[in-house]
Amino acid sequence: MTAVNLSERHFIERGIVAREAGGSGWGLFAEEDFEPGSPIFWLKLETNARSTLGTWEEGFGPCQERGFTFLPGFSFCCTAELPFWFVNHTCEPNAGFVNWGFAEAQGIPFVAHRRIAKGDQITTEYAVMTTSYDGSLRRDPWSMAPCLCGLPNCRGDITSFNALDKKIMREQVLPEGKVRGRVLAHVLAECPDMVELLRQEDPAMYTKYEETLRQQADMIKKMQSQGHL
Ligand SMILES: [Zn+2]
Repeated sequence: MTAVNLSERHFIERGIVAREAGGSGWGLFAEEDFEPGSPIFWLKLETNARSTLGTWEEGFGPCQERGFTFLPGFSFCCTAELPFWFVNHTCEPNAGFVNWGFAEAQGIPFVAHRRIAKGDQITTEYAVMTTSYDGSLRRDPWSMAPCLCGLPNCRGDITSFNALDKKIMREQVLPEGKVRGRVLAHVLAECPDMVELLRQEDPAMYTKYEETLRQQADMIKKMQSQGHL
């Protein structure tokens, strides 16, 4: 007989586990070491057993609080079968997107931004994946307050990317280390001054940003032709 452990959740993906994280509810934890840039899991923007891709408006239905605008005009609705469901925000995260969310064959990689050791909680920055209009069907600003990360540099309220302090925006657009492109392309596109900064300071990553925007546009066209919108 197989014992079901209700205090842990495992996934199809190896090397990670969800469990109680203390004050902030459940969290995702590393069961092995991840080097900077290593994929932890991939997000497939499609409807399958673990997630639903619907219209942006549908994200405010039963999917509320579980929906993400990873593609303009669409809502990506998670289930608890996806490790992403358990990734908490902290103001000093260790994981997130790379190459502005450019989708590879397996999906959009969610990677270690710095070294993550076995046993560490895997956390991310919610602002870089949130558009200015994700707060409601009336396109109000989104925020999550208060942040429970408890770190000395905690920002308190978590907002969308466009509402961040310019210094924090710059750190996300031009981060230290080799893992670059941490802001989703359409989220960065809302901030023309940051796009211009990127174009001047990191031309190679600016090219990748444009490529990711084109990929998003192609995906939207494909969805439209299949009758999803
Ligand atoms: Zn915080």
